[in-house]
Amino acid sequence: MSYRTHHCGELRLSHAGQTVKLSGWVQASRDFGSLTFIDLRDRYGITQLVFDAEENAALCEQARKLGREYVITVEGLVRERINKNPNRATGDIEIEAKTLQILNPAKVPPFTIEDNSDGGDDLRMKYRYLDLRRAPVQRNIIFRSQLALETRKFLAGLNFLEIETPFLIKSTPEGARDFIVPSRMNPGQFYALPQSPQTFKQILMVAGYDRYFQIVRCFRDEDLRADRQPEFTQIDCEMAFVTREDILQTFESLTKHLFRSMLGLELPDFPRMSYDEALRRFGSDKPDLRFGMEFTELNHLAQGKGFSVFDTAELVVGICAKGIADQYSNKDLNDLTEWVKRPQIGAKGLVYVKFNADGNIKSTVGKFFSDDDLRQWGQAMGAETGDILFVLSGETDKTRKQLSELRLELGRRLGLMQPGDFKPLWVLDFPLLEWDEEAGRFFAMHHPFTSPKSTDIPRMMTDDFETLKSLRADAYDLVLNGVEIGGGSIRIHDRELQSKNFKLLGFTPEQAEAQFGFLLGAFEYGAPPHGGIAFGFDRLCAVMNGQNSIRDFIAFPKNNMGRDMMIDAPSPVAQEQLDELGLKVEAKR
Ligand code: ASP
Repeated sequence: MSYRTHHCGELRLSHAGQTVKLSGWVQASRDFGSLTFIDLRDRYGITQLVFDAEENAALCEQARKLGREYVITVEGLVRERINKNPNRATGDIEIEAKTLQILNPAKVPPFTIEDNSDGGDDLRMKYRYLDLRRAPVQRNIIFRSQLALETRKFLAGLNFLEIETPFLIKSTPEGARDFIVPSRMNPGQFYALPQSPQTFKQILMVAGYDRYFQIVRCFRDEDLRADRQPEFTQIDCEMAFVTREDILQTFESLTKHLFRSMLGLELPDFPRMSYDEALRRFGSDKPDLRFGMEFTELNHLAQGKGFSVFDTAELVVGICAKGIADQYSNKDLNDLTEWVKRPQIGAKGLVYVKFNADGNIKSTVGKFFSDDDLRQWGQAMGAETGDILFVLSGETDKTRKQLSELRLELGRRLGLMQPGDFKPLWVLDFPLLEWDEEAGRFFAMHHPFTSPKSTDIPRMMTDDFETLKSLRADAYDLVLNGVEIGGGSIRIHDRELQSKNFKLLGFTPEQAEAQFGFLLGAFEYGAPPHGGIAFGFDRLCAVMNGQNSIRDFIAFPKNNMGRDMMIDAPSPVAQEQLDELGLKVEAKR
């Protein structure tokens, strides 16, 4: 141990009197003339060093010149501090420095390496190695490492094998856009980076490896948002000889284990809800169950009273915000109305009914509805004096989406989403197919390998649009606090059924064979029933820490333009590289 005997988070009062050696980065220095204090940091913590000019003037002078982020080694004596710092694990002690060695000086960092840095996003991304030194980012990266370890321990304990699948695979038109990689040895041909190991894990089931998992990078060339990255990580799993119930049980146990081991929290059994029910009650297939405000459909009460907006609507639906009538002024209500009218939400207006404390009822539609009418709405929605009802109307899917956004916004404004509160939910029985207006065809809602519910298989052979839309899949999502953290399905394992499904998705038999012939072929050699799930690992990290952005849980993330600001990628390549690949690139201006 020539550089250190201990790390910077380790020393306590019990070490007093020992001579120790520490190495790390200069976090801060305070110069009090005869005394210079240095905070020395490494990934374990911060330890205070003291240089005393009366003991050793030259050494103190050297210490005084240390800049932020200098890398140093110090030898000294551990002693009890007079002014203890209860906020620091090492706050009871300090090191009376005897020697100081500068291992490497540092330029002044472009932003402060503090819990709250003064650096903007781009700057911190460019100097990611400095940002990664900050304690909150470090905590996230350490959390991630431990979460991966706990996942492996748990799954290995259940006989799962971690098996790697290739990154250079074949491009398929289904799903998101692929990242493609040109093949030098096969000019004019391309690999794709996997959007997930889906077909490979299914092939592993056919091969008899009946419990597979992988903590694996996936690649999707999609437009980016705060919770999306072009490369992200999944806990990808597959099991053979299982029913849906077996899978839900197994991965509910995994989730509970992760919360127990990482956060010391016991999660109760996860509630379950069908996709249809989730949409009806919350307008979303990933409802945040940390608060209520469930939807109440009001068609039977609100229609036929001469208010044409409601009369012509497919759906009239509302939510009840408890006890806010007093605190919500007209200005707040106007504000909220403007909020739902923003293009991102797209509502035409917002109807409200305010049950004031003095017994008065105030409503935007008071002209069309009597107080008795409005009281009936209130009754249907469980409203009491002091509550406000918010009602939207229009085409069913759109209106539900808008009201769901409003519900979440109210949840945020009213502080109903408490950090540390975790509400998991299984959403079951997703539709098998999703109609795409633009493409004029059905797409798989989950993916093309998802099995319809066995009761729906006989109904697959039809051209009837409504029947096809009503088909249900054996697909499930795990939702946590309104975030989809996992999704999977029981798979088709029968060649005939898989071919049928491809047909529904608009593949000709030739296209299906060209794209997925290997899988169809495998199904003819003894494919067991199987199913699986994948967790978004980055998202799980973020949600477990009550954060929205996955970026800070990724050591080297990309920005909103998909750029790695540190290495400056993507970038042009040399003409020789292009020539070798037989590629022509027209420079875009
Ligand atoms: N491969 C699927 C996905 O990435 C998950 C699964 O069905 O297991 O969404």
